[in-house]
Amino acid sequence: MIAYDLVCAGGHTFEGWFEDLKAFEDQKRRNLIACPMCNDTSIEVVPSTFTIKTSSSLPEESTGTDIPKKVPSTEEITHFLEKNFEDVGPDFAREALKMHYDVSEKRNIRGTSSKAEEETLEKEGIKFFKIPIPRLDS
Ligand SMILES: [Zn+2]
Repeated sequence: MIAYDLVCAGGHTFEGWFEDLKAFEDQKRRNLIACPMCNDTSIEVVPSTFTIKTSSSLPEESTGTDIPKKVPSTEEITHFLEKNFEDVGPDFAREALKMHYDVSEKRNIRGTSSKAEEETLEKEGIKFFKIPIPRLDS
């Protein structure tokens, strides 16, 4: 079973459990997934922010001299990511796969990805990190 974070057209977020990605897509296409709060069937998967780091520039074993020892603030994490990771936005999964298959040069990237794309990356054995970054609406 796979848990998906879902959001309806009305902005309600809820969790849905599905056999696999195919089951989710099938149920969504047949409007079988409805928001528990307003019964809306325009359901989308909530995108998450992802980062991927390549072993060449940031070794897995490294204790990370670049990473602050103390618990970093959200601002520090955001700054660190902005400085060290290329923002590829919603192309994250595509770029990660391209690097995985040596189509693109390996580098540190960050971006957003859907649960479905996350599943693909996991199946391909691609290591990535999911970092919750609060959206600052100002
Ligand atoms: Zn709703």
